[in-house]
Amino acid sequence: MKILVLGSGGREHALAWNMQQRGNHELFIAPGNPGTAALGTNVNLGVNDFAGIGSFCRENGIEMVVVGPEEPLVKGIRDFFLEDEMLKTISLIGPSQYGAQLEGSKAFAKAFMERHQIPTAAYREFTEANFEEGVRYLEAHALPVVLKADGLAAGKGVVICQTNEQAVAEFEAMIQEAKFGEASRKVVVEEFLSGIEMSVFLVTDGKEYVVLPQAKDYKRIGEKDSGLNTGGMGAVSPVPFADAAFMQKVTDRIIKPTVDGLAKEKIDYTGFVFIGLIKVGDDPFVIEYNCRMGDPETEVVMPRLKNDIAAVCKAAAEHRLAEITIEEDPRTAVTVMAVSGGYPGDYDKGFKITGLDQSLNDAILFQAGTKAVDGQVVTSGGRVLCATAFGATVAEAVDHSKAILEQIRFDGMYYRRDIGYEFV
Ligand code: AMP
Repeated sequence: MKILVLGSGGREHALAWNMQQRGNHELFIAPGNPGTAALGTNVNLGVNDFAGIGSFCRENGIEMVVVGPEEPLVKGIRDFFLEDEMLKTISLIGPSQYGAQLEGSKAFAKAFMERHQIPTAAYREFTEANFEEGVRYLEAHALPVVLKADGLAAGKGVVICQTNEQAVAEFEAMIQEAKFGEASRKVVVEEFLSGIEMSVFLVTDGKEYVVLPQAKDYKRIGEKDSGLNTGGMGAVSPVPFADAAFMQKVTDRIIKPTVDGLAKEKIDYTGFVFIGLIKVGDDPFVIEYNCRMGDPETEVVMPRLKNDIAAVCKAAAEHRLAEITIEEDPRTAVTVMAVSGGYPGDYDKGFKITGLDQSLNDAILFQAGTKAVDGQVVTSGGRVLCATAFGATVAEAVDHSKAILEQIRFDGMYYRRDIGYEFV
């Protein structure tokens, strides 16, 4: 197939890697990175340049577009394609703008879960219109309490408050001072759930679905999950605590009702559903939905997936998912992300990266914040690259991944040594 993958991170590198390992495609990646350039042709187009993407697809006979990040979906790239006689014949993998609200609006997602009796934290939503009621609600709320900006806030819109005063101050900043811009003009206030998190990934056509390998990611910058939140510092797959009995509950209480809910509400949804879960006692609750794959989870999910993800996506686009049997590598995969010094705060870029040409066994280096300058790969973002490695156990896989990163050098490089620490 002639496929265009939209995005430039480790997630898109991993999607492209899977497509070329398991299938044989002509790949284009927009805008891509030096890692994806080895798997296809990078195209200098932004992910939100719908007109440019449309023209490129027409001129190059693209058969399928796989959308990596959420922003083009929340902005309506699927709707843009469907409005055009020629573009609507291309299989675009990603939900409609309406369906993408599962990620783009926390209030939409909570109401969807409520309509379909999907277990999630109890909540209320507030805007300027019921601001005073919100203040009173927060003054009396049990602690900790979770405040969420309704819209996309680059992963920063969730604040867990330890005191009622902090909650009220945060609430005022979000609604009255637009702390997260328009995204926080509406706020979801949620009960705090205590447990261990993991993620489940589906490919669906809005009626049928298949389940991809599960994963757990590590969001904090510091070891033992300390310090600031990041885009993700590492991931493991499979997740040791997600045994068959627990996954059966996830299927019955969450996955099936979610897809049935999409079908009942006739939501145009062809693409990925990423379900962020928390295990409270022995029971799963939904923390969030995303309308695309996770990063860095994709960097462990795609290596463990023995199917060609392009074939799975095409089957979804053609309502043939019933034909697909997902096959997983039984081994454990761990990815460890190397980041720029200072990240997630300010950091410098443009540092030369060495060690990318080492020979790898049962491991892959995925690039994220990198770019090529005069034939040399240099850093160009906070999360720079990640090493995914296989092992019989989490301990073996993480040691393998760290051994690869020890051969990589760039100024200020940092990575967590303890990814998967609860499981070793
Ligand atoms: P979200 O952007 O919704 O994924 O939230 C970011 C992170 O905040 C999650 O990964 C959780 O660690 C945490 N979080 C969100 N909602 C809750 C909740 N109701 N209870 C406990 N932790 C939460």
